Amino acid sequence: MSMFVKFWGVRGSIPTPGPSTRRYGGNTSCVEVRTPEAHFICDAGSGMRELGLALSRTANGKPLTSHLMLSHAHWDHIQGFPFFGPVYSPTTTLRVYGTDPGDDRFFRLLSGQMGSDYFPVQFSDLAGRVVSDHLNGGCRVVGDTEVSVLPVCHPGGSLSYRFRLGDRMVVYSTDNELDLLIENPEDAHRPEVLRRLPEDLVSFVRGADLLIADGQYTDVEYPNRVNWGHSRASTCIDLALAAGVKQVAIFHHDPMQSDADVEAKIQGCRRRAALLQGSALSVFGAREGVELRF
Ligand SMILES: [Zn+2]
Repeated sequence: MSMFVKFWGVRGSIPTPGPSTRRYGGNTSCVEVRTPEAHFICDAGSGMRELGLALSRTANGKPLTSHLMLSHAHWDHIQGFPFFGPVYSPTTTLRVYGTDPGDDRFFRLLSGQMGSDYFPVQFSDLAGRVVSDHLNGGCRVVGDTEVSVLPVCHPGGSLSYRFRLGDRMVVYSTDNELDLLIENPEDAHRPEVLRRLPEDLVSFVRGADLLIADGQYTDVEYPNRVNWGHSRASTCIDLALAAGVKQVAIFHHDPMQSDADVEAKIQGCRRRAALLQGSALSVFGAREGVELRF
C-alpha cells in the first residue's frame, strides 16, 4: 500500500507564468493524492487543467472517478475547474465534497462560476457526472483512505484535509494564517524560540509523512500582509516540528516571488529547522511536476 502525491499548481493568489517562475511554476493550487483505491484532487486552481490532460491520457476512455476536496472557493482555488477536461467526458465521475450531509456549498459555487456571464459552457451541459458529496461531519473513509477535515484561519474560512492510508499520512493545509494563531506572540520574532501553535492543529498534523503548508511569505514580507490569510513560511517549520512531521512542502508561493526568491525563502526555512534542532525534518519548496511516494 502506498500513497502518491503530485503537485500540479503551487502558486498563491493568481497564476504567474513567465521566465522568472519557470522552475517552481506559475499555476495556482492543485495537488493530486492517489492511493490504490481512491483518487483525490486538492483544490481546483489553474494547475487542474494539466492534471485533467494527464488523467484523460491515462484513462484512455476507461471510467474515471475522482474526489475533489476544496480548501475554499477563492478564485485561485476554483479557476481551473472549467478547464478540467475529464468533466466533459461521459465516463467521468467527479465527487465534490462538503463537510456535512446536505452541505453542497462548493458544488453550487463550481456551478455558479460557469454561469453564462463567466464562461461559454454551462455546468448542466457537462457530459461527466459531477456529484455533491460530504465528509460526514469531518471524517469519512473514501475507498481505502480516511479523510479528515479541519477548519483553519483564513478570511471567509478555509479547510485543511488529512489523508490516512494505514500508517501513511499526508496533510494538505493551505490558505492558513498560522501567525495569527501563535500562542506565545511575544516570542514570535525571536528566532531561537519555537512558535507555539494550537493543539488541535498540531494533533491534526501529528506524524504526517508529508505536510503541504501555506508558506506564502518571507519574514520580511509578512509584517505588511497581516490578516491577508497566509503564513510566514518560517512558521510552517514550527508546526512541522511540533507535530513530528517527516517532510514539509512550503506551498502557495506569493505571485511576487521569482524562483530565486522562493529558493531563498526555502533556505531560510531550512536554517530555522536546523536552529530549532529539527535536523531530521526535510523541507522543500512545492514545485510543479514533483511526485512523491510513501
Ligand atoms: Zn489561495
